[in-house]
Amino acid sequence: MYCFDAPQQNPNTNHGFVGNALKAKINDIDHINCEAGDEDSFFVCDLGLVKRAHQIWTEMLPMVQPHYAVKCNTDSRIISTLANLGCNFDCASKAEIESVLLQGISANRIVYANPCKTNSFIRFAKTVDVNLTTVDNCNELHKMKQFHPECGILIRLATDDESAQCRLSTKFGCTVESAVDELLPLAQELGLPIVGVAFHVGSGAKDFGSIYKAVQDARMVFDIGHQLGFKMNILDIGGGFEVETFEESSAMVRMSLEKFFPNENEQVKFIAEPGRFMVSNAFTLATHVIAKRDLPRHFVTDDIENGVKAMIYINDGVYGNLNCILFDHQHPIAHVLTHRDNFYYNGNDAHGKGKHGFSIWGPTCDGLDCVSVRSELGFDVDVGDWLYFPNLGAYTSAATTSFNGFKAVADVIYVDSTL
Ligand code: PLP
Repeated sequence: MYCFDAPQQNPNTNHGFVGNALKAKINDIDHINCEAGDEDSFFVCDLGLVKRAHQIWTEMLPMVQPHYAVKCNTDSRIISTLANLGCNFDCASKAEIESVLLQGISANRIVYANPCKTNSFIRFAKTVDVNLTTVDNCNELHKMKQFHPECGILIRLATDDESAQCRLSTKFGCTVESAVDELLPLAQELGLPIVGVAFHVGSGAKDFGSIYKAVQDARMVFDIGHQLGFKMNILDIGGGFEVETFEESSAMVRMSLEKFFPNENEQVKFIAEPGRFMVSNAFTLATHVIAKRDLPRHFVTDDIENGVKAMIYINDGVYGNLNCILFDHQHPIAHVLTHRDNFYYNGNDAHGKGKHGFSIWGPTCDGLDCVSVRSELGFDVDVGDWLYFPNLGAYTSAATTSFNGFKAVADVIYVDSTL
């Protein structure tokens, strides 16, 4: 990993909604006398960017109703903000369903999109009236028959997601052959309502041709399903979208839907399960530099050659909110936020040339807890300085631990750049 940072702003300027919130919070901390933990890492969330992402979705894919994948970031303000905009929800567990229902959101706005479900969770879904789920194998159909026979079922197809940042079809999804030869006939025998097809092209998908192929496969399953007498009218195109590539991926969705589902009389409802797309850019993580040591000569000659001059230790890491490095294959980029009481926030990834090479480590006692083997920062940072990491809304706070006694989920300060 290789990062740059260069301060580009006069410390006295207005830093925008996120920058001002970061600055106000850090200025509030008495770093010499504060209580233990008062200087813990924290997020600033710009709800305006969540609203903007939803707006982009509705402009580019007005025919596809998004169901935000709660697993991506379970923050209740994200859920309520999206709910108020008309977004629906994808939940994978009892707790996720509860977190949505708790906000007064109706159960018919939820898809229980986990093809392998715990029996008691299926019974729970029935009691709270969650009536749409995904299934990719015959055992699951038997479970649905036993515990929630009226629930609408989407057959989850596997996709070609080899180039995705996080593959999902290694774990979930069936082939078209299995769908038509096994699942549909069994559902017919059991009298279960197959109402459509779902797929997911992998989180952080890169090859949008797989969307085309998946929609084509879905068409085949719809055709056979119709022949068998099923009233199939929902196509769930899953997640895998990112703001940065949405022009391309959404164009592929539009083209594929027009080609394979052009018939308005069929009245197919298109839905999706975007996670990363809605929240990734909205969260910035601020971390405190808690320790620093010169690079010990005995163990890192490669690092010395690469220009790493010191190791810095920050108060968040791969066991905390930077777990996305391990679980989500992300490469968060560090920037200097404060140095010697001056504040530097340029608000984006437009980092110029830095000249101070560091390896960055988390606070736990585990050697795995490495945030970056090499980051090039704009200053020779000291203990007491702060760093920030932009674009950390997706698959971060959702999977933290409190390993070694460090706080699991960082506090969040909310701003709204649209107000
Ligand atoms: N739907 C399902 C079933 C998933 O497993 C995931 C992610 O793992 C998502 C939606 C969200 O995917 P993304 O965040 O890539 O949009």
